Amino acid sequence: MFGLIFFGIVLVALYVWKQGEKRKIAAIEIPVDSAGILEKEVSYFRSLPEADKPRFLEEVKQFLSVTRITPIGTTIDDTDRLLVAASAVIPIFGFPEWHYTNLTDVLIYNDRFDEEFDTKSRDGNILGMVGSGVMNHKMILSKAALREGFSNKTDKQNTAIHEFVHLLDKADGAVDGIPEALLSKQYTLPWLNLIHKKIQEIKADDSDINPYGASSQTEFFAVAAEYFFERPDLLRSKHPRLYEMMEKIFHQTPPTRVSKAQP
Ligand SMILES: [Zn+2]
Repeated sequence: MFGLIFFGIVLVALYVWKQGEKRKIAAIEIPVDSAGILEKEVSYFRSLPEADKPRFLEEVKQFLSVTRITPIGTTIDDTDRLLVAASAVIPIFGFPEWHYTNLTDVLIYNDRFDEEFDTKSRDGNILGMVGSGVMNHKMILSKAALREGFSNKTDKQNTAIHEFVHLLDKADGAVDGIPEALLSKQYTLPWLNLIHKKIQEIKADDSDINPYGASSQTEFFAVAAEYFFERPDLLRSKHPRLYEMMEKIFHQTPPTRVSKAQP
C-alpha cells in the first residue's frame, strides 16, 4: 500500500516537472532556421570564419532565451528577433563569458519615438534608447532603424549595435564613454585623449565619423563602435589609432566582409 502511494506521488511529481519544462521551452522562442537567417541578413555573421559560427549561434540562442523581445504597436518576425540578438552578440563576441546582466526586455516600436515613448509625436526623432528609472533594464528600438542598420552595408551606422554598446558602457555603473569593465586602466587616459581629438575633428568638419558622435564622449564611443563593426576595413584605413583602440576595447578584430552569401 505504502509503495503504491509512493509510486503515485512520484508520478504526480514527474507530471508537474514535465509541465514546467514544457512551459520553459515554450517561453524561449528560438527561430528554427536561425543560422540560415543570420547568414542571409547579418553580414558580420556571414563573414565570420566557419569555425566561429557555432559559438555565435549559441550566444544568439542564449540571449533569446533570457531576453523578452516585445513589439509595441507593431508586429515583428523571426528575422527581427535575430537582428536584435545579433546586435547584442556582435559587441561582446570577444568576451565569451560575457552576458548582459543589465537587460531583461527589448521593446520594438514601429518607427521613431520621442522622450515620452510617444510614436505619434511630431518631433519624435529617437531611433533607440537604453532605459533608465522605471525603464531600467529595458531597451527600446525602432523596427525601421533595426532593419535599416543591417540592410545598408556602407553607411557605418547601426542603431541596435549602438544601443548595446551603451549597455556595455553602462555595465560599470556609468554611461560615460569609458567602458571600465572592458578597458584596462592603463588605456583610459589615451582613450579619453583620442576621443577628444576625434570630436575636435568632427567639429572642425574634418571627419567622416557621424557628427552625432561629437555630442558627448558617451555618444562618440557608441558611434565609433557602429563604424568599427559596420566598416572595419574603412575605419582601419581612415582612423588607424581609433581602430586599434576599438580592437583593444572589444577584444576582437571584426570579420571583413564576404560580399555574397556562401552556398
Ligand atoms: Zn546613443
